[in-house]
Amino acid sequence: VNGVAGGTTLSVLRVAVRARPLQQDELTDYKTCKECVSYTSDGRAVLVGKRIFAFDRVYGPMVGQEDVYLDCVKPLVDSCCAGYNATVLAYGQTGSGKTFTMGCGKNVPLLPETELGILPRAIRQLYSSIEERSSETEFLIKCAFVEIHNEEIKDLLHPATPSKSISVREDAHGDIILAGVKEEVVTSFENMIRCLEYGSMFRTTGSTMMNQHSSRSHAIFTIIVEQRSLVHNLNALSNDVITAKFHLVDLAGSERVKRTGAVGMSFKESVTINCGLLALGNVISALGDERKKGHHVPYRQSKLTRVLQDSLGGNSRTCMIACISTAEINLEETLNTLKYANRAC
Ligand code: ADP
Ligand code: MG
Repeated sequence: VNGVAGGTTLSVLRVAVRARPLQQDELTDYKTCKECVSYTSDGRAVLVGKRIFAFDRVYGPMVGQEDVYLDCVKPLVDSCCAGYNATVLAYGQTGSGKTFTMGCGKNVPLLPETELGILPRAIRQLYSSIEERSSETEFLIKCAFVEIHNEEIKDLLHPATPSKSISVREDAHGDIILAGVKEEVVTSFENMIRCLEYGSMFRTTGSTMMNQHSSRSHAIFTIIVEQRSLVHNLNALSNDVITAKFHLVDLAGSERVKRTGAVGMSFKESVTINCGLLALGNVISALGDERKKGHHVPYRQSKLTRVLQDSLGGNSRTCMIACISTAEINLEETLNTLKYANRAC
């Protein structure tokens, strides 16, 4: 049973833009220190040259991790605890701050509080609301961590599983199942962080060309929240198990891969690299476009959109955070990112 905790439909797609601050090495180099992005004071639009783009929220370089979390993700964790699926996506060119924003890098337990990204904050919030409700609700929490690269799915928590034995299926209720991917039962914040770190480590060391590999793949960390009411009350529909999924996605770099000079890249890779991002853009704009409501949403165009199918649109809540660099040398990619994100809202 999915999403029976309330009667109302929560079809919400929010799009935010986050600009990262220039890094020390960029600030000290005249080629990279010039900025080309400014912001309106209402926090809702970004200016690049003469062009202005409006979004649900725009975060300038001074906005910290906690504020981004409270604004974009806390409501999604709340709705997941109420039984609805949710997805948060970080989009942007390589180096724009996706992994920093998602908080799925290394050494999470050693990070200072202010640097903690979305994932550890979401896990912490989840466990605190479980604790608060422990007298009336029984929870079972699981997680899965997969990577999609060249339209192949890899189970990052069970790296020995061959990609060929993993497939995306849809059950009779329209729920998406990743057959062949093993979900891990987790019992604490620390436990889930260990899963996150284990999978992240495998993501970057599993390839000989580490950075290139991780910038071309989508990483999806999924938290599965199963709950059952322990109290018999007349208002509760039943004491069935309610399941909700929360996907936290660090998308592949959005930069166009230049075929010339793409040394060491297989032919297949150069053809399919942006497949998931293209399909995601199509799905998100179909969902966001009023005129297309009720029309076909093209989930089947990629593995990424297929995996996320039951957690984008419908009763689920989605937030896309488009990450940008403010440096003028990245102007072209920044414009591409803003145009892509604009299709979504
Ligand atoms: P991506 O995952 O998009 O390739 P990263 O998250 O690795 O980019 O970010 C690139 C660099 O910029 C990293 O060193 C990261 O720590 C830093 N960075 C990104 N966003 C911010 C931010 N909002 N504040 C401070 N540093 C940031
Ligand atoms: Mg990254």
